[in-house]
Amino acid sequence: MKKGEVMNSYIERVIKEVESRNNNQPEFIQALKEVLTTLEPIISSSDKYEKNAILERMTEPERIIMFRVPWVDDNGKIQINRGYRVQFSSLIGPYKGGLRFHPSVNLSVMKFLGFEQIFKNALTGLPIGGAKGGSDFDPKGKSDNEVMRFCQSFMTELYRHIGHDVDVPAGDIGVGGREVGYLFGQYKRIKNAYEGGVLTGKAISYGGSLARTEATGYGLLFYMREMLKEHGNSMNGKTVTISGSGNVAIYAAQKATAMGAKVVAMSDSNGCIYDENGINLDCIKEIKEIKRGRIKEYLECNPNAKYIEKTGANSPIWNIKTDIALPCATQNELTLEDAKILVANGVIAVGEGANMPSTTEAIDYFLEHKVLFAPAKAANAGGVATSAIEMTQNSIRYYYTFEEVEQKLDTIMTNIFKACKQAADEAGISGNYVAGANIAAFKKLSEAMIAQGLV
Ligand code: NDP
Repeated sequence: MKKGEVMNSYIERVIKEVESRNNNQPEFIQALKEVLTTLEPIISSSDKYEKNAILERMTEPERIIMFRVPWVDDNGKIQINRGYRVQFSSLIGPYKGGLRFHPSVNLSVMKFLGFEQIFKNALTGLPIGGAKGGSDFDPKGKSDNEVMRFCQSFMTELYRHIGHDVDVPAGDIGVGGREVGYLFGQYKRIKNAYEGGVLTGKAISYGGSLARTEATGYGLLFYMREMLKEHGNSMNGKTVTISGSGNVAIYAAQKATAMGAKVVAMSDSNGCIYDENGINLDCIKEIKEIKRGRIKEYLECNPNAKYIEKTGANSPIWNIKTDIALPCATQNELTLEDAKILVANGVIAVGEGANMPSTTEAIDYFLEHKVLFAPAKAANAGGVATSAIEMTQNSIRYYYTFEEVEQKLDTIMTNIFKACKQAADEAGISGNYVAGANIAAFKKLSEAMIAQGLV
């Protein structure tokens, strides 16, 4: 919806109702408003959406599970965390979405992520519903044994709510291969059954898919390639800044480099590094994937690089001049203030690797200034799409090669871009892939909802 336009009365009513019912959940309301305010063209086209209460149903999770997670730390002290699983929608497949372990996890964050996931998963074209889960547990600084005891306790409750045809969790912030392994081991032990497809993001040795680790970052770059191509441009020769230095950021950097771009900056929650000759990814991988260290340690690799400490609320990485910015860390990490600096410095495209990393005001500013903008639910869908390919391999008891999985991922991301473009073109807002993604996903979900009756 463009600024100043009157909102459709049905959309307006539902936003008000959801706001009053969830008034202490700012991230959820933000995600929901971002979607609903772009659905004007489709909602206004028929009264069937209001008659069937589509928006009311789509904004209320099918089920929310919250539970206590007791565990014992290395000093023998009892610790208590809170676990969550928001099973938002099973319309088009089993609930599917990652688990996040981070101190900032709360019900609002879980619901925003679960809500986004429904739309993202619909865009992949694969049979997966939407969910999200996690805990306010902080794996940082914990020993392997502490992480294992936490994961075992977490799964001791979660196992009764999941299953390969019911709900299939995966990783997210703070949940990588190590955590998925401990979770899977405990699930298998409790169920006394090898249900390979109950979790994705597994290691290759026990049922994981080749290219799953790389998938979200690679997928983001495939989407960027398509979006730039549509506008007569490419990644080749561009400078790129990427926030974060976790799973998504590292493989986004790898693929951007392979496409001929130069990644000059990456970050973590303490600060960012700037290396004008291009970041050495082997160093980043060593620091983050093996040592689980801080990005500042990059200076040991290249003393000529610069480290800029994060001092205020905003990340210093957005002050660096770049052609392409890829926020790949966390929600609301790119604000209006940051967007203004990026635009003033000549950014041409922004691609969201993280979930909801740009504030609504920042997105509006980019769109108003004709910056190409790849929204998270489309651009980072490669991770969950490859998780669905992992489920397929577990079901057929067969493994695809790395090249086969990457090719499927490339095709899926290309199709997602096409769907976003087509929906935006049909709505008369060509180039607005934020609205395009939301409308394309909504179309599919609302059709399924109407077909299945009052569920
Ligand atoms: P990781 O845990 O591997 O890495 C997260 C990175 O983001 C780290 O560099 C971390 O820095 C930084 N970060 C996390 N929280 C904050 C914060 N509050 N402020 C600043 N920096 C922060 O996570 P992923 O790479 O898996 O996930 C990153 C984003 O991508 C998330 O939004 C996630 O939901 C999204 N995503 C992930 C997918 C996947 O397949 N993994 C799929 C689709 C989306 P530090 O180490 O200092 O905390």
